Amino acid sequence: MPMTAFPLTGGCHCGQLRYTVRAEPLNVMVCHCDSCKKVTGQPFFARAVFPANAVEIRGEVAHYPSSSEITRRFCPICGSTVFAQRRTMLDRISVTLGSLDDPGAVPPTGHMFTGRMVGWLRLDDGLPRHVEFPPPA
Ligand SMILES: [Zn+2]
Ligand SMILES: [Zn+2]
Repeated sequence: MPMTAFPLTGGCHCGQLRYTVRAEPLNVMVCHCDSCKKVTGQPFFARAVFPANAVEIRGEVAHYPSSSEITRRFCPICGSTVFAQRRTMLDRISVTLGSLDDPGAVPPTGHMFTGRMVGWLRLDDGLPRHVEFPPPA
């Protein structure tokens, strides 16, 4: 596996929202839940969770409560989904892998909510799969 160069940088499509990450991810998961599908407009959602104090954010961020627990954070101009946060764990923040300047910088460590995975998707990455949430880390 290639070494990841820190800090990581990323941002939204239009570029007004930018961020810098100065820590290793706590976990990197691909989520197949229905909420993530709708919010991203994609069949699954890949994100890395970092300690919130390691992520420096510049620019305007809009937010939307996609469930009783999760707040999605996105660019109010171009609509790119950039962050998500669990409201009971504000010391962590999820960063969308596609918003990274190097989207391959932090490879996934597992899949969750595979019980809701789209039928056409074939996975051969050998990563752990969880039907719903993974066991707490
Ligand atoms: Zn934008
Ligand atoms: Zn999800």
